[in-house]
Amino acid sequence: MKITDIRVRGGRLSSLTFVQVETDEGLTGIGVTGSPSWIIGPIVLDRQGGLIRFLAGRDPLEPGRLWVRMFQNWQALRGRGGEGGMAVNAMGAVDMALWDLAGKALNQPLCKLLGGAVQNRVMAYASGTAFDPDSLAGNVPPRLKSPEQLAAESRACVQQGFRAIKFGWGNHFRTEDEERLAAIRQAIGPETRLMLDFGCPAYWTPGWNLKEAIRATRFLEAFDLYFLEEPMPPFDVDGYAALTQAAEVKIASGESLSTTHEFQQYIDRRALDVIQPDAAQMGVTQCHYVARRSEEAGLLCIPHSPWSATVVAAHLHILSTVTNGAMVEYPGWEALREGSTSAYRITRMAHEEIIERPLTLSDGYLQLPESPGLGLGNYVPEALSRMEQVAAQGD
Ligand SMILES: [Mg+2]
Repeated sequence: MKITDIRVRGGRLSSLTFVQVETDEGLTGIGVTGSPSWIIGPIVLDRQGGLIRFLAGRDPLEPGRLWVRMFQNWQALRGRGGEGGMAVNAMGAVDMALWDLAGKALNQPLCKLLGGAVQNRVMAYASGTAFDPDSLAGNVPPRLKSPEQLAAESRACVQQGFRAIKFGWGNHFRTEDEERLAAIRQAIGPETRLMLDFGCPAYWTPGWNLKEAIRATRFLEAFDLYFLEEPMPPFDVDGYAALTQAAEVKIASGESLSTTHEFQQYIDRRALDVIQPDAAQMGVTQCHYVARRSEEAGLLCIPHSPWSATVVAAHLHILSTVTNGAMVEYPGWEALREGSTSAYRITRMAHEEIIERPLTLSDGYLQLPESPGLGLGNYVPEALSRMEQVAAQGD
């Protein structure tokens, strides 16, 4: 079997790019990355120096080997691109599609190619935001939703079967938020896991530092958090090591990292409690390695995947092969409801429409797909086109 072509899809205003690796035997592998198609497209498709130039004509059934070759090629060419940036995201999407293709060609689910599953379902957590979407559109300072809104949304997630909920919260861990957090905890009861995401790259301010982060974790102890995500800049290994040691609450990070080298420092130093790799940023080959290494180090692995079923499926297969895969991120109630913003409409389409076999949530868990490869079939061309139209129009 030989790779004949690669297709790259995704609207200009969306930060999701879908790739399809095609072969001379008619099989297609699918992958995704969370970087925009107007950057990923040329990295993959440029006939002079893009990934297609290297991959066309190769046997796709050795994804690990092709990853090493792609990455080495990039290292040789990288110029001033550091370890790779979005070029690694592009390779990651192609790598995911190669694993899907290998599974389809061998008629086996991806988990078997990765060594075999030790669990056949993974708890999904509902990922949402505490910010009022209306306040994010204009030039007004972003506002948090009211305690009543947050309680209602939390209740809706629990009614959907979720046993764990996360809110993007930003830099708001102050006394005035006590009422909101108490309302959420009361709505979900003591058994449901609650997580908060500072989302540091977006909300860091000059007045915030390690001491502020430690103070926030103490303030949050009353609400029994399962983890606090990205309360420090994502590349500050020393800061995270100090915070993780000082905090009662588990500290999580990793969605901004894209290579095994970047994760290595956090894992070796036990600088985090929860490792959050994203196969849509770094590919299946690297993400599986990070899951294994964090398992070895006694850390939880809870991947980042709020935007598309393609990467959620990749994470299910990866987590099924390790014993530290506590949960996987999944869009919560607000993202999947009707009549939301174009970004949420794209999220819904990426979970429910653009793939032939959507995932199903049952009792708060996602079942490991049994069909070959990722287990989602192929992308549905008409649904991809509809999604590109939504992405082109915006709100
Ligand atoms: Mg996050």
